[in-house]
Amino acid sequence: MRNNVKKSLTELDQRHFIHPTSSIKQQQEHGPAFIFTEGDGIYLKDNNGRELIDAMSSLWNVNIGYGRKELGKAAQQQMDTLAFSSAFSTFSHEPAIRLSEKLAELAPDGLNAVFLTSGGSESNDSAFKLARHYWKLRDQPERKKIISRQRAYHGVSSGSTSATGIPQFWEMAGLLSTDFIHADTPYELGTAQAIASIRNLIENEGPETIAAFVAEPVQGAGGIIIPPDDYFQEIRKLCDEYGILFIADEVITGFGRTGTMFGLEHWGVVPDMMTLAKGITSGYIPQGGVMVSDEIHETLKEKSEGTLFHGFTYSGHPTACAVALKNIEIIENENLVENSKEMGDEMLNGFRSIKDKIDIIGNVRSLGLLGAVELVEDPSTNKRFSPSLKVAPRVVEILAERGMICRSVTYDSTDIITFAPPLIINKEQIDNMIEILYDSILEVRREKN
Ligand code: PLP
Repeated sequence: MRNNVKKSLTELDQRHFIHPTSSIKQQQEHGPAFIFTEGDGIYLKDNNGRELIDAMSSLWNVNIGYGRKELGKAAQQQMDTLAFSSAFSTFSHEPAIRLSEKLAELAPDGLNAVFLTSGGSESNDSAFKLARHYWKLRDQPERKKIISRQRAYHGVSSGSTSATGIPQFWEMAGLLSTDFIHADTPYELGTAQAIASIRNLIENEGPETIAAFVAEPVQGAGGIIIPPDDYFQEIRKLCDEYGILFIADEVITGFGRTGTMFGLEHWGVVPDMMTLAKGITSGYIPQGGVMVSDEIHETLKEKSEGTLFHGFTYSGHPTACAVALKNIEIIENENLVENSKEMGDEMLNGFRSIKDKIDIIGNVRSLGLLGAVELVEDPSTNKRFSPSLKVAPRVVEILAERGMICRSVTYDSTDIITFAPPLIINKEQIDNMIEILYDSILEVRREKN
C-alpha cells in the first residue's frame, strides 16, 4: 500500500499490525499504549520521550538489560563472516559447536547435549517430540502422554499450547495435540496434596502410557508460583518411580533469573530434559534449545537409524549462537547471577516493607528477580477482590503512568502483579521501584474507598 508516509504510526499499527497475545478490540479503540524507540539498562524510552523502568525485562527475557553494544558487535562480526549456514544433516559451524559446549558446561551434571531452536515454544515442542521418540526407540511406543500443570505456560505452538494450563490459550482454536493432561499445581495446595493428585492421575491414565512430565521451576505467566521447598524432589522421585521423563521448562528461570544459573538448582534436582530460550540471548536475537540427559543422548546415538526427522531452518543459527555466547559471557563476567540473588532479596524486603503499610497486599514473594505481589480484599483471610473491579490491571495502569512497566495476572480471579527486572539492576533502582509500587497501590486503594 502506498501513501503511508503521512499516516501516524498509531494508525499504521491499527491498520496493519496484528499484535501477539493482545486485545485487538483495545488496539482498534486506543492504539498502542507505547511505541518504544530506545532502551538503556533497566529503562525504555518511547516516541514521546517518556522514560520508564521496565520491571518485566520485556517478556522476562532482557536479562542483561538494554543497550549492550557488545551483542550488536558479536552479531555484526558473525554476519560479516558467516551470517547463516544450515546445521541440517552433516553440516556444522563453530558458533553452534561452541554454544553447545558452553551450555553443557553450565547445565547440571548429566545434561551435555543440546538441540537448538529459535524460542521457547519450539523448544518445548521439540522436547515433547524427543520424549516420545525416546520411548519409541526404547520399545515403549505407547508412552505418548505429556503431563503438565494447571496455571502452566509453555508457549503457543501446537504441543506447547496443549501443555499450557491456562485454558484461554487453547480455547481460541481448540486443542491441536492429543494426549496432553493437566495436573494440579502446588499453588495453595502444598507438596503432599499436589504430589498425591499427580500420582492419582498417573495411576488413572496408566503409567505405561506417559512419556513425560513438564514443569516450570517457578510458574511465570501463571502468577509467579514458587513451589514448596520439597516439591521438586518429590516430583523427581515420582517420575523415577513410574519411569516418566521429567522436562524442566527453564525458559524464564534459566540464565540467572531466580538467583541461580537454572531454576531447579535451588532444590538440587536434575531433570531429564531442560528447555531454554529468552535469557539465553537476553532477547537480543531469537534463540532457544533443549538439553537432554546423557541417557537420552546415548539412546539416540545407539538406537537411531536413519534421519532424526526434526529440525528448524534456524536450529543453530550462527548469528544467534554468536550473540548467545556473548550474552552468557556478560552474565558470567559481571556476576549477574549473584546480583540477581542479592537484588532479588532487596526486592522481596521492599515488598514486605510496603505490605505492612497497605491493607490490600496479601502474599508477596520472590526468588531472585522473579517476584509477585498479590492484592486481596482482606489479607487476614486472603479473600479476593471481585474480578469486575479489575484491581491488578488498574494498578498496572497507574504504575505505567508513574513510570514503571509491570504485568498483572488475573487468571482464576487473582490480582497478582509480577516483577522480573533486568539482572543488572542496583539497590537504588530497586528502592525506586518499590516507591513507585507503593504510591500506585495506595492510589488504587484510595480509589476503591
Ligand atoms: N515457556 C515458558 C515458561 C514461557 O514463559 C514462555 C514464554 O513466555 C515459553 C515457554 C514460550 O516461549 P516463546 O514465546 O519464546 O515461544
